[in-house]
Amino acid sequence: MRPFNYQGSPAKILFGAGMRKQVAQAVADLGCRRALVLSTPQQAKDAETIAALLGERAVGTFAQATMHTPVEITELALQAMRDSGADCTVAFGGGSTTGLGKAIAYRLDTPQIVIPTTYAGSEVTPILGQTQAGRKETVRAASILPEVVIYDPELTLGLPVPMTVTSGLNAMAHAAEALYARDRNPISSLMAVEGLRALAEALPQITEAPRDLSARSAALYGAWLCGTVLGTVGMSLHHKLCHVLGGTFDLPHAETHAIILPHAIAFNAGAVAAELQPIAEIFGTTAPGAALHDFAVRIGAPTALKDIGLQEADLDRAAEIATANPYWNPREVTRTDIRQLLAAAWRGDAPT
Ligand code: NAD
Repeated sequence: MRPFNYQGSPAKILFGAGMRKQVAQAVADLGCRRALVLSTPQQAKDAETIAALLGERAVGTFAQATMHTPVEITELALQAMRDSGADCTVAFGGGSTTGLGKAIAYRLDTPQIVIPTTYAGSEVTPILGQTQAGRKETVRAASILPEVVIYDPELTLGLPVPMTVTSGLNAMAHAAEALYARDRNPISSLMAVEGLRALAEALPQITEAPRDLSARSAALYGAWLCGTVLGTVGMSLHHKLCHVLGGTFDLPHAETHAIILPHAIAFNAGAVAAELQPIAEIFGTTAPGAALHDFAVRIGAPTALKDIGLQEADLDRAAEIATANPYWNPREVTRTDIRQLLAAAWRGDAPT
């Protein structure tokens, strides 16, 4: 067996249908009394219902969370924290809202409760991506990891199917790369396989019956596992490519992950065949990249970067940026290979 280091996450996870009703107790258990509820403008109404559940432990809502966690919005939220005398945050929403809660905690060290409504997984990582003047920086710190996560699958029943599919593949990408992470350990690999298995089973069921609570529960369970491994082991080529495409070309986060995943896994498959074997087994094939592509097509995910806003003329620059700074990947990364991979993903080809 390979030597390994293992450290469990200190975060407390509450999981179950209706679990959002525990939010006031969760705030009290943290020793807090005045929670500011965070959301995007689109989820402002639902955030009010969370504030209502908090009763006198809510000081209000701040519904201006947005993509890429811009520092200007964080500063407005910090002002709202000061004005309201809040002593903790309750972030209700997807990765963008979680990002705002993390940005506040990074600066004030206030405890965070997150109630996720997508499968992005940010709620269980100590990582914050934020942007200032169009530049994205990623920071990692213990204060960024939320103290409590409340997973309530009832809150995901209305997640539109297209978002469900791309967000689910975003989660699966964390687990797929965790399988071959250099610093993987037996627990991270167990969680990754179980997360992949849960989502591979649940996502097709949800496309058929979006309000199926049992499939929604399985998908959220998978998302928790996939997010947890994202927070504990290092990512490689797939996440690097998505970071470049999102950061430099402003492509949408979950869709980009959905499109790149089969290509990145096919690219690495020869170098880490044994590590990726569980993916092939889950889909009952021998080629994990092709299996992920077929799966994405089956559940109606986007498959071409040209359909989500990337111009063909950008491929050279994307390949250049994605290979400019060396990072660990199980297979050597060259600009020519990455240009080829991105071109295939741009056209929407099945990976080779
Ligand atoms: P998002 O949070 O940007 O949400 C997209 C839109 O969907 C928003 O308008 C949101 O309000 C809405 N929405 C969310 N849940 C909904 C629901 N149940 N029903 C209807 N609408 C809903 O998207 P995301 O994919 O969850 O998060 C992406 C962001 O998270 C990116 O900025 C990414 O960088 C970040 N992220 C960070 C980490 C990390 O570890 N730091 C991990 C994963 C993602």
